Amino acid sequence: RTVYLNGDYLPEDEAKVSIFDRGFVMADAIYEVTSVLGGKLIDFGGHMARLKRSMDALDMQNPLSDDEFLTAHRELVTRNGIEDGLIYLQVTRGNPGDRDFAYPPADTAPTVVMFTQSKPGLADNPAAKQGIRVISTEDLRWGRRDIKTVQLLYPSMAKMEAKAKGADDAWLVEDGRVTEGTSNNAYIVKGGTIITRELSHDILHGITRAAVLRFAKEAQMKVEERAFTIDEAKDADEAFVTSASAFVMPVVEIDGVSVGQGTPGPAATRLREIYLDESRKAAV
Ligand code: PLP
Repeated sequence: RTVYLNGDYLPEDEAKVSIFDRGFVMADAIYEVTSVLGGKLIDFGGHMARLKRSMDALDMQNPLSDDEFLTAHRELVTRNGIEDGLIYLQVTRGNPGDRDFAYPPADTAPTVVMFTQSKPGLADNPAAKQGIRVISTEDLRWGRRDIKTVQLLYPSMAKMEAKAKGADDAWLVEDGRVTEGTSNNAYIVKGGTIITRELSHDILHGITRAAVLRFAKEAQMKVEERAFTIDEAKDADEAFVTSASAFVMPVVEIDGVSVGQGTPGPAATRLREIYLDESRKAAV
């Protein structure tokens, strides 16, 4: 596999980053994951906008223009022959030469890393036909979940807890209400209304979430942006999650309780279709 490191395209085992890099010792880094369908990038503009938002929130310098990022993404897609898959992009605050809590001088070069993951048939994931099962667990992450940092240990722990309980993923709960999934935004559908938590520092502002809510409104579906409880979710007609890699994924079980009929619901199924159609059309 060819990867990108600070302007160079290298075989993956030649791409080396310092052990003093703040991404490594401080999780001082942000990332984006963009999906590739048919060799094209899905919602690339959305991911670039959020990358900048994350960097601004952390006073990080943006090392490349959108065009340069686009070129690098396309170059990796071509070099690695990616038809369907993901492109991971990470920017760290770079290598200050030693370990220190204070940020290094602003002119410290950031570290920019990109790599691809080939996922043939990504849009035909059989899980979308069956739906996934989630458990609920407490949300013990930090208070700026709107910044897409690489601090992913708590979501990993929650995912492991889900797997240990025979489920696919976890929904995180704070003050009795669902924030989001470990790596996706969470939704329920009740009486035809799509309900998902409002944007704040409590959740990641999903790029897929923004697109799906826009498509839902265009399709005259009712949308309510508010928090919901796990009990409300168990009692809903449908549940689903969204992310750049899962698109719209139906949730059919929460803490062992079937949601609705226990099969993917009509709203989630329809939104998945619309999302895939529209984003393929707009892919770059
Ligand atoms: N919420 C969290 C915590 C995530 O990690 C992700 C994606 O990785 C999402 C939501 C979904 O965001 P997006 O649709 O931009 O992939």
